[in-house]
Amino acid sequence: MAKAIRSTISRISEKKLKEIVVSEIATCLRASYYSIIYGKHATEKMVYGLDFHNFFANQLVYTIEQMYGVKCEVEKEVEYMGVKGRIDVYCGDFIVELKFTNTVGRENTFYQHYVRQLMYYMAMSGVSKGYLVMLSFEMDKYFVDELYLPNNNREQILNEIVERASTLLKSKLMQIEPPQEKGPWCGFCRYKTACFNSKLI
Ligand code: SF4
Repeated sequence: MAKAIRSTISRISEKKLKEIVVSEIATCLRASYYSIIYGKHATEKMVYGLDFHNFFANQLVYTIEQMYGVKCEVEKEVEYMGVKGRIDVYCGDFIVELKFTNTVGRENTFYQHYVRQLMYYMAMSGVSKGYLVMLSFEMDKYFVDELYLPNNNREQILNEIVERASTLLKSKLMQIEPPQEKGPWCGFCRYKTACFNSKLI
């Protein structure tokens, strides 16, 4: 049995090492690299957020169908050149990306990363319209941004996906940190000590 467990762990670890997902390349590549190396620290709020996320996505799909007669899909899998992702809500002509956060609106420090993630999903799924929906955990505040990906920009976004995925994959395989992508999000980064100390090593 121990052998089977070891073999399963090693297979999963090997797969994880070679796999790149959209959420990893939409944010700072170095932070994603650290989260792979050091592991993610799931807080209670994150676990609660995930449950709530799925619940809300299913409710939204139900409401869209009731109100507009449009059938949507929750957690639609997409893939482009080996990069994988899951679109929160896919409705054929448009997609929805849901974010539960304490800071609802464009002033959210991670807003740019959220937009990038939505753009990547639009490019990968061939959809031109996307909604970024930010909700507070108590659902007393929300913000909706309607974004478009013009067809002549799709190629550029797909190239960016491949470029960022290659950088992260190379870092993972060679165990070398990708370049820093500094921004206001560094203040909230749980890896900032490792990141800024790396220059001293
Ligand atoms: S501190 Fe900033 S640059 Fe460094 S890993 Fe975190 S987000 Fe990236």
